[in-house]
Amino acid sequence: MKIARFSHDDTISFGIVDEEEHELVVLKADPMFAGFEPTGERVKLTDAKLLAPVIPRSKVVAVGKNYRDHAAEMGGDAPAEPLLFLKPNTSVVGPGDAIVLPRQSERVEHEGELAVVIGRIAKNVAEADAEDIIFGYTIANDVTARDLQQRDGQWARAKGFDSFCPLGPVIDTHVDIETATIETSVNGELRQSGRLADMVHSVAAIVAYASSVFTLLPGDVILTGTPAGVGPIVDGDTVEVSVSGLGTLSNPVRSAA
Ligand code: MG
Repeated sequence: MKIARFSHDDTISFGIVDEEEHELVVLKADPMFAGFEPTGERVKLTDAKLLAPVIPRSKVVAVGKNYRDHAAEMGGDAPAEPLLFLKPNTSVVGPGDAIVLPRQSERVEHEGELAVVIGRIAKNVAEADAEDIIFGYTIANDVTARDLQQRDGQWARAKGFDSFCPLGPVIDTHVDIETATIETSVNGELRQSGRLADMVHSVAAIVAYASSVFTLLPGDVILTGTPAGVGPIVDGDTVEVSVSGLGTLSNPVRSAA
């Protein structure tokens, strides 16, 4: 089941995507907290503007170097334990929103990633129970100012600028991790292509590990790392990240005004 957050007639709502009818089944409230109760109204997908499907109330947790081929292109091995960092919730934008290139950086890069949306408060979750606290999955672009990442030695600034965490287009309550592929293209040219099954640390392992550090709250998002092929994006580009079965997250790139 795919869930969208969208605006229509100046109202923000949640809806279930009816892919056959190309419509949204409007829900009474955020299904993460209120269940899937329809209002009876339907909105055509073409009449709705899709928004980031979740605005994390507390945090976006991210994992670095979680695919061996990407760790290698960064010049090292994949870490034995998940390498965690945080992105502020102010970095989140939705599908179609611009990634704004900050003046401080001369090299901003795309990192297409699967994102996990946490649905329940959780601490010290066992790997075998991780699925119980996952609400669903969406797509993320872990946009990174590569020059600042190297200069700073830690990643808060390089990965924390406003608009550096596009999320969307929808939350899917099920993704077949074993078979799904993830691809990132810029202006239609394929840059990254990987399989979710090639993650060094699995989704369940990452959720369990993150919950051993942070209390996870409903609406928190965990980015699971990017495969090889990261590269620069510049003013005027369009970046698209696709996960098979889940959809495509598309964002234009603009220089700061
Ligand atoms: Mg990343």
